[in-house]
Amino acid sequence: MSPLPAGSTIGILGGGQLGRMLASAAAQLGFDVNIFCPGDSPPAARVAAGHWDADYDDHTALEDFAANCDVITYEFENIPVASVAHLVSCSATVRPGAKSLEVSQDRLAEKQFLNAIGIETGRFEPVESVGQLETALQALGGEGLLKTRRDGYDGKGQVRVRSGDDLDAAYKEIGGVPAILEALVPFEREISVVIARGADGETTAFDPSHNEHENGILKRSTAPCGLSQDVIARARRLAETLAHETGHVGVLALELFVLKDGTLRANEMAPRVHNSGHWTPEACATGQFEQHIRAVAGWPLGPVTRHFDAEMENLLGEEALAPPTAYPEGTVLTLYGKRDAKPGRKMGHTVRRTGAA
Ligand code: AMP
Repeated sequence: MSPLPAGSTIGILGGGQLGRMLASAAAQLGFDVNIFCPGDSPPAARVAAGHWDADYDDHTALEDFAANCDVITYEFENIPVASVAHLVSCSATVRPGAKSLEVSQDRLAEKQFLNAIGIETGRFEPVESVGQLETALQALGGEGLLKTRRDGYDGKGQVRVRSGDDLDAAYKEIGGVPAILEALVPFEREISVVIARGADGETTAFDPSHNEHENGILKRSTAPCGLSQDVIARARRLAETLAHETGHVGVLALELFVLKDGTLRANEMAPRVHNSGHWTPEACATGQFEQHIRAVAGWPLGPVTRHFDAEMENLLGEEALAPPTAYPEGTVLTLYGKRDAKPGRKMGHTVRRTGAA
């Protein structure tokens, strides 16, 4: 596909805050955006030219969507792979492709893929029954995190288990679905690399951020991440390998645990713009949303030089209801336009520039 001229239409599968921020970046570059997302008036649809309110496996609606978009991307990883395959079979260009989606939808497939391409993870065992959970627990030294293979996010669908616990209850708690047991990684720090790969295979990686979680939900991302140039270079190389091996076109994020001795272990990947990259528009020459739009439109990637040190903080639930005047000068506020401030729900974020880089 040759580079899309401004004025073309980009379709986004998914209608949450990531789609909304992608749509704003696309608008700035002169594109129109259509959103495909089930539900009445999702956040992204309210800043887009068109909204297809249909289920992700509604092939007729997908065909109509494809007929009205010049390229299609996605903003969350739980789009059925068959739907992307269907779009491709209707001659739609979908970037990133099905491979990145397939790998990131299933924690077992993801870890096996990462290991196969030389990216180490913590130890893990597949679990499909209480008996297997018991064996897995023994194999991993009597303690671990039981996680559903699919559909988990923000710490949901996971429970910590130890030998001697009621394993029946633990497996029921995650719904009794196919799962994995992960060994607890004794990390000193969590970081992520947000990287873009263009249609021509060129990559640009943002500086990794240091990520802090509360109750399994990302609370704060800070750049620079405070680690040595050696660790940073290794982290970037892992993200580059992942982007190339998936043939990814667009932005992806690789979350990494950093051990005391600087060893890196991958936690998971996201085949999309990422919460831990929300500081980039305010701190870098090109932000992650613009970079993703550039990549899927077949444009050259922008420079990712970081001009500021920055701290991004998520606003969860009612935190987003504080009046904007409560933020110190120099803080950039982004609200996602969600109508219901449920506890723990990501409602917005702030980016504070903490100094010149
Ligand atoms: P996840 O949804 O799998 O990314 O997990 C959310 C957070 O839980 C991670 O960012 C870590 O802080 C923590 N966590 C997840 N898996 C592990 C693990 N295997 N060992 C230690 N901490 C973990």
